[in-house]
Amino acid sequence: MADVFANLVGQPEAVATLRRAAAAAAAIVGPAGPADGTEPSGAGMTHAWLFTGPPGSGRSVAARALAAALQCENGTGCGACSGCHTTLAGTHADVRFVVPEGLSISVGEMRALVLRAAGAPTGGRWQVLLVEDADRLTEAAGNALLKAIEEPPPRTVFLLCTPSTHPDDISVTIRSRCRTVPLRQPPPEAVASVLATRDGIAEETAHWAAAAAQGHVGRARRLARDPQARERRAAVLAVPRRLTGVGACFDAASALIEAAEAEAVAAVVEMDARERADLETALGAGGTGRGAAGAIRGAAGQLKDLERRQRSRATRAQRDALDRALVDLAGFYRDVLAVKFSAPVLPVHADTAPMAETAAARWTAEGTLRRLEAVLACRQAVEANVKPRIAVEAMMLALWRG
Ligand SMILES: [Zn+2]
Repeated sequence: MADVFANLVGQPEAVATLRRAAAAAAAIVGPAGPADGTEPSGAGMTHAWLFTGPPGSGRSVAARALAAALQCENGTGCGACSGCHTTLAGTHADVRFVVPEGLSISVGEMRALVLRAAGAPTGGRWQVLLVEDADRLTEAAGNALLKAIEEPPPRTVFLLCTPSTHPDDISVTIRSRCRTVPLRQPPPEAVASVLATRDGIAEETAHWAAAAAQGHVGRARRLARDPQARERRAAVLAVPRRLTGVGACFDAASALIEAAEAEAVAAVVEMDARERADLETALGAGGTGRGAAGAIRGAAGQLKDLERRQRSRATRAQRDALDRALVDLAGFYRDVLAVKFSAPVLPVHADTAPMAETAAARWTAEGTLRRLEAVLACRQAVEANVKPRIAVEAMMLALWRG
């Protein structure tokens, strides 16, 4: 039976840390543990956690797994009990997910969440507040959160996810109060192995997809399973040879942005449907007796919450998908440079290696480097909130001029 940590791919150190935390937390709440009110500290357990790592490394997967392990009736994150199930489904009464508005989290919202998280856990274990995009906190919201982390109620645990511990992502004061769990880009062999064993994907396809996805687990799975995902990747890698004039540059920009949008929809649609089905099942079990009207009002609120969370995840998924497309494209220009310098490294994209060789014969090293820089500049511009279409069009023109 796979436990809640089984989906954390290629992260043995992080999993070991989280298992220890789960055991320490279980000792605190369990019958054999210290009396109520004991501070969860020392060996393994702490009040505030910061999960860092590149997109696709599994930050939110790790945070959810720890949340589930904290609510697990067996204290391990068994993956089979109702505490584990409801936490992973987003319906556990003592686990709150922060709902960002757009891409940032408002201070009012954060205060309300912190207040609710300060209450006693209804299930007798822990109150968990999970912030998936803590790098999107406004300064005021961050301060509201910091106050709670500085004086945590005894049974409240904060789980924050950010790309890195850089001050741009998380304030130094919050970081200093958290225990950091660094996740790395999982190695291709680990990704291939999980695709083969967990998802039943043929060995050869699994290896190809893991390499092509460059360490992004969810993307590797989509590439292996979904022919349209493979087509979208091929379209991105066809960009360099499509740039034959100004008009073609604008066409290529549109194609890239549309491919990223389609990729984002594919990334969230499955999870959205599963979450909704889980929530509806949980609410449907509510019965029709006294208090049913109140339960239905509550249900409508929960559905609205879920829809808001899903919308903001879709926005984030679009940005991530565009970034992945740009990383793919940068990989191609890096391959061209590697050919030019006869560097003894494997190509990022084995399947477009012949194209990279053709380009290397035509372009100068400086021209290739300028193209690579244009892609990286586009990534930075999008990250700095330049409208994606404008940034991508500027990049395409730079790639065409060389
Ligand atoms: Zn469990």
